[in-house]
Amino acid sequence: VTPASITPTVCVDPSSFEPLAEVVGAGQQVPLADGSEVAYANLDYAASAPALNAVADAVTASLHQYASVHRGAGHLSQVTTGRYEQCRETVRHFVRGRADDIVVFTRNTTDAINLAAHCTPGDVVVLDIEHHANLLPWVSRDSGTARIVTARPGIEDTLVALEGELAAAPAALLAVTAASNVTGEVLPIGRIAAIAHRHGARILVDAAQLVAHRPVSMASHGIDYLVFSGHKIYAPFGAGVLIGRTDWLDAADPYLAGGGASAQVSVVDGADENCAATAWHTGAARHEAGSPNVLGAIAIAAACEAITEIGFEAIGLHEHELRCRLDDGLARIDGVEELRIFDDITDRVGIAGFGVDGIAPRAVAEYLSAEHGIGVRDGKFCAHPILTRLGHPDGAVRASFGLGTGAADIDRLIDALAQLISTSP
Ligand code: PLP
Repeated sequence: VTPASITPTVCVDPSSFEPLAEVVGAGQQVPLADGSEVAYANLDYAASAPALNAVADAVTASLHQYASVHRGAGHLSQVTTGRYEQCRETVRHFVRGRADDIVVFTRNTTDAINLAAHCTPGDVVVLDIEHHANLLPWVSRDSGTARIVTARPGIEDTLVALEGELAAAPAALLAVTAASNVTGEVLPIGRIAAIAHRHGARILVDAAQLVAHRPVSMASHGIDYLVFSGHKIYAPFGAGVLIGRTDWLDAADPYLAGGGASAQVSVVDGADENCAATAWHTGAARHEAGSPNVLGAIAIAAACEAITEIGFEAIGLHEHELRCRLDDGLARIDGVEELRIFDDITDRVGIAGFGVDGIAPRAVAEYLSAEHGIGVRDGKFCAHPILTRLGHPDGAVRASFGLGTGAADIDRLIDALAQLISTSP
């Protein structure tokens, strides 16, 4: 059976592929070891994507109409509050959330999953391929266990294993990544959601590596909770999102205690000590104590709008061409081997994890930077279990790309790797 998400990889001539959008800092000069300078080739989008010019413009404009949110009567407070609340709607629309889904602004994906873990009543099932952000919050909870399923070499067998685990004992939630941050492989989220629901579990999707690259519909895929970070969708650092069903969030204690989350506070002079009696808000405010990151929310909303305007069709085509060029280039170099978790997933976002025979990942990354001005990531990508299982306990190299990447960036990487290997003893 060929899953619907799997499409064959067909390369079209990508020679004319230029960046699809303008990003802040594109083409800036960086120093090389020999003292010369070269335009930076940023191939580390999966860690943090550069901000889109459109996002930077929206943030700059907001600084001119900027005041406290929620508690100010002044005009600019009202404007800023309105914009902040509107950002929730923009995000909800971007991921096609249901009308009654709550949108909570968090610091990042890690924060969003910790919030979800704080609110989840019962056991959670996770795969061993996850980024630590979607593993450690679940294993370190007191309110339920985390049952970890080892992914099989095929996604079909993995779905069977997940179904078996959920059938064996009830779980409150299945928490799964939408796209691997190690290989870029895109998981069939709609089918996984259906499996969870068949067994009475909800699903949380870690969409940190997906939402900038593929359209997501929470409503039609049946996703109960979705999380992502602004800095991976061309907004700056510091803000993320948890969107999903309200009941568990309203039932849980506030994630942070403080102003903004509290509706009414009174202090009672008790016999032994002063006691505070607090009535907490429901809704997003319950978990957003303290002054929120309004500019972060504005940046995320601007990124959602900019991505929508560029369009997922154009994004998919652009990434597909670059992906082909990257995969073909890597495959042509003896001694370079791309990492794959599943042998039957061909849909991949712009991430390639690979090893270079006989050369440590850090040495490869340093060479690419110092000799060629190319920025890649090396290490274990906060995904130690799967790196170890794939035979790279000491890490690998990861190249990743996005809207600001052109074919020339990919070619520079391939040429530099070939050069490294040909000159290594
Ligand atoms: N989940 C995935 C799949 C990721 O790739 C990352 C970051 O690389 C995270 C979660 C954590 O994101 P953040 O560091 O923004 O919390």
